[in-house]
Amino acid sequence: MMTSGRIPVFMPYIGIDTAKAATDALELGWLGMGSYVREFEEGLASYLGLKDRFVVAVNTGTSALHLALLLAGVRPGDEVITASFNNIGDFQAIRMAGGNPVFCDINEDDLGIDPEKAEELIGPRTKAIIAMDYAGIPCRLDELYGLAERKDLRVIHDAAHSLGTRYKGRLVGSFDDIATFSFDPVKIITCLDGGALVVNSEKEVERLHRYRLLGMDQSASQMYTNNRAWTYDVGEPGFRYHLANLHASIGVSQLRRLSEFVSSRQRACRLYARLLLGVEDIILPQSSFDGVAPFIFYVRVLGGRREELAATLKRQGIDTGIHWIPGHKFTFLRECRRGDLSATERVSEEVLTLPLHSYMEPSLVERIANSIIEFFKG
Ligand SMILES: *Cc1c(COP(=O)(O)O)cnc(C)c1O
Repeated sequence: MMTSGRIPVFMPYIGIDTAKAATDALELGWLGMGSYVREFEEGLASYLGLKDRFVVAVNTGTSALHLALLLAGVRPGDEVITASFNNIGDFQAIRMAGGNPVFCDINEDDLGIDPEKAEELIGPRTKAIIAMDYAGIPCRLDELYGLAERKDLRVIHDAAHSLGTRYKGRLVGSFDDIATFSFDPVKIITCLDGGALVVNSEKEVERLHRYRLLGMDQSASQMYTNNRAWTYDVGEPGFRYHLANLHASIGVSQLRRLSEFVSSRQRACRLYARLLLGVEDIILPQSSFDGVAPFIFYVRVLGGRREELAATLKRQGIDTGIHWIPGHKFTFLRECRRGDLSATERVSEEVLTLPLHSYMEPSLVERIANSIIEFFKG
């Protein structure tokens, strides 16, 4: 697929299995939330090997984060500690719950939130910490959970990058307080748009079922038979966050390939790392990719040459991306409380995302790596 011409940063894999799943869902005639949503939730629970935990599917990763924050008890004026080096969806979700992000620095090795610096930021209104596994590489979860326990905080594990990653042998999402996933167009598996939460109490499941359906106390098990009730009560605020059958059907087909997606991406990342190992002016991810489900492959470009490298690659038909502009740089968030962000400042000027696709041909990785090697030779 596309071995010549432009190489995009992301290239979702849509096989005929996915096209067939979508057609089947359209032909079913029940386009809203229904049987495919149950199938997707069950499929994800089974992939994660959940025992005492439950999956609730929603329409985006951002909605999943918003609902996770509500479950965590975030109310107007409360604070949520997050790395400034995170997705804009996390910051907006905190604002949607009425809360304020508090920007924390990251570690130089895993580029996840720094637990010691997070502890210093805890204030009287702090309710939760967001943990996020940049590029699929796990952050310091043990320290973060230890801190949360000592300080009585909830942990929201934004696992949008790390579906399929293992932390100390256990799949991310299978051991958390609240975990959230995204299945947006470019994530490791896609529903076109979709998200999910994993929670550990049936009470939270029931709240999520109401939250995602405009607050209605519709029975999910009835909706999962492609049916609905016409009488119901609404007892609290709610949102239009449910997942539709079409999107869920795409997710079901993608889940079946997840293990292959993961292993093919691991191979591509290891090849990148092997080929780029000798290049002095870049720092590679600090990971062997064992047990890691790589969402993106990034390098850190030293010597202030990131933009020059990106422009050179672009001229050769190789797209690159930047994940991310840190939150504290945005106009909307400039008032937010923050600690020392020196690692964030440095890293965010250096990171460059290289193309990474499921089933990526080794020749593509070689072409990209060679271009980078040539750039630093010249
Ligand atoms: C993609 C992403 C989100 C947002 O998910 P959407 O499905 O796009 O709303 C949140 N956090 C992280 C880390 C992400 O990568």
